[in-house]
Amino acid sequence: MLISSFIPRLVWAQAVGGYAAGCQFDSQALPLQGPGFKVIRASRERFYGQPALINYLQVLGKKVQQAQLPSMLIADIAMERGGPFPYGHRSHQTGLDADIWLRSPPVPAHQLEDIPEIDMVNHSLYTLTRHFKDQQRQLIALAATDPRVSRIFVHPLIKQAMCQAYPHAPWLPRLRPWYGHSGHFHVRLHCPKEDIHCVPQAPAPPGTGCGSELTSWLKDKTGALSTTGSRTPYRPELPLRCQSWVKQ
Ligand SMILES: [Zn+2]
Repeated sequence: MLISSFIPRLVWAQAVGGYAAGCQFDSQALPLQGPGFKVIRASRERFYGQPALINYLQVLGKKVQQAQLPSMLIADIAMERGGPFPYGHRSHQTGLDADIWLRSPPVPAHQLEDIPEIDMVNHSLYTLTRHFKDQQRQLIALAATDPRVSRIFVHPLIKQAMCQAYPHAPWLPRLRPWYGHSGHFHVRLHCPKEDIHCVPQAPAPPGTGCGSELTSWLKDKTGALSTTGSRTPYRPELPLRCQSWVKQ
């Protein structure tokens, strides 16, 4: 008989460490497609997240479908055990971050692996392009309404457009300007309450972020040409409980 079935599970789903130096245990894979969403670049196997994030994305997909928006395209979440990616962005290590593309589908199924991102910003004119429409605004608004969201990183010009379109929205503080987010936005959930080893990010400054803070971002265009991340491998010091779990 199987004795192992009587042994209590030694691990349970949890995010450990910080968003940019951590790992995840007992992650779940997001199905490659479902109501209102499709996973792109699935061959990278970065579609694993904590149950809260997987649920968040599936709930958001249903809202997207109800709003009759095209299915959203979900790119990087995290690797099965989390930890730093071999290349690309620094965070996405604990299964609580996900990138959602802003380009409008439809995308033929055979192109889900290698379609290019579409930039919503003309970086030389420093304006939004014709690709940024009401559909994109609605998608970001739907993504921001869930109280599990800690932050959503968007290009400063996109933050400005959202401030103009939804000036009284209670979720505006969650939209944080950050360069490199002009073809996709990056959703970050709060640490789930029960994940005692998950390190939260400091709270965002009070207020909507539509005033002087945004103005200073818009004035500083030096970061405007930066892309989605460095190609240099990023190897942070991980929490002890992640060190033997994550292959680096
Ligand atoms: Zn991201």
